[in-house]
Amino acid sequence: MGSIGAESSPKMEKMQMAASTREEKILVLVRLRPLSDKEIMGDEVSDWECINDTTVLYRNTLREGSTFPSAYTFDRVFRGDCTTRQVYEDGPREVALSVVSGINASIFAYGQTSSGKTYTMNGITEYTVADIFDYINKHEERAFVLKFSAIEIYNEAIRDLLSTENTSLRLLDDPEKGTVVEKATEETLRDWNHLKELLSVCETQRQIGETFLNEKSSRSHQILRLTIESSSREFLGKENSTTLSATVNFVDLAGSERASQALSSGARLKEGCHINRSLLTLSTVIRKLSKGRNGHINYRDSKLTRLLQPALGGNARTAIICTLSPSRSHVEQTRNTLLFACCAK
Ligand code: ADP
Ligand code: MG
Repeated sequence: MGSIGAESSPKMEKMQMAASTREEKILVLVRLRPLSDKEIMGDEVSDWECINDTTVLYRNTLREGSTFPSAYTFDRVFRGDCTTRQVYEDGPREVALSVVSGINASIFAYGQTSSGKTYTMNGITEYTVADIFDYINKHEERAFVLKFSAIEIYNEAIRDLLSTENTSLRLLDDPEKGTVVEKATEETLRDWNHLKELLSVCETQRQIGETFLNEKSSRSHQILRLTIESSSREFLGKENSTTLSATVNFVDLAGSERASQALSSGARLKEGCHINRSLLTLSTVIRKLSKGRNGHINYRDSKLTRLLQPALGGNARTAIICTLSPSRSHVEQTRNTLLFACCAK
């Protein structure tokens, strides 16, 4: 047992500062999924096309003359036939692997339900862990510990996805560690297969909640967190030994339709209200970060942003993968996702 969300000690902090003092922009990627077999059988058509590596185009000639723009440009866009490995290697990899140098990072999947968030995020988490173990094996001069934890935020309540106890965990403000999740399980990863085992535990835990609440996964945020600690073997146990510590968060957000529905329906439901709060606070935070990391940012307005604060501001690296459904019937949500993506870049 341990706690997650820990900010590093002053000593570690200093090393992180030394590792990078650059102002990083948020990396914004857009991934279009292919039409599913079911959509094809149902005569769905795709209205979106990636015309090059950076631009996605809306090309429904029936709607020509409509008021919304037809071309959207980002750091990188991925067509339906791109693999998750291609997505990973074209940006998220570099952001995630900054943890081995002591820099915190967050990678988000944002998009409507069924657009491919979980599909994308799980793959990226697995590739990252494989690469980190590779790195560890190649750097025998340092001693590494890789820890994994997984939580879900639903209705502003936090649940441990590695524990069978269905209790709600509290966020605590620890004077030394910053904001932490009290009593969250933290497993020390042995290897990549160990990660796969833990991911299937998370999956089961997420589904248990689902049997008494329909569509729960579309309403909850899942945060998978890797913490990597390392110290030089030469100084191990000596007084001048320092530990480099950083976390990378893989955040599978609630379906973005919850944010727009909550806005349009006046947030009658408690749930809509909370989803509204976490997703909308995140949107505000990201919009502000995209304009530069200085100035006041309202991290404390939601649990999600409170917890992710050390991995969002300052020297942290951030990537957002916006996932899109290509089908005509989803065009309004697809457009909302693109507008969010435009605000983030
Ligand atoms: P979300 O988490 O956004 O609700 P999922 O990741 O569960 O969406 O994806 C919905 C369905 O589409 C799943 O069956 C998934 O396997 C499939 N899918 C998503 N993205 C892709 C992709 N890029 N290529 C092929 N299938 C995909
Ligand atoms: Mg999902």
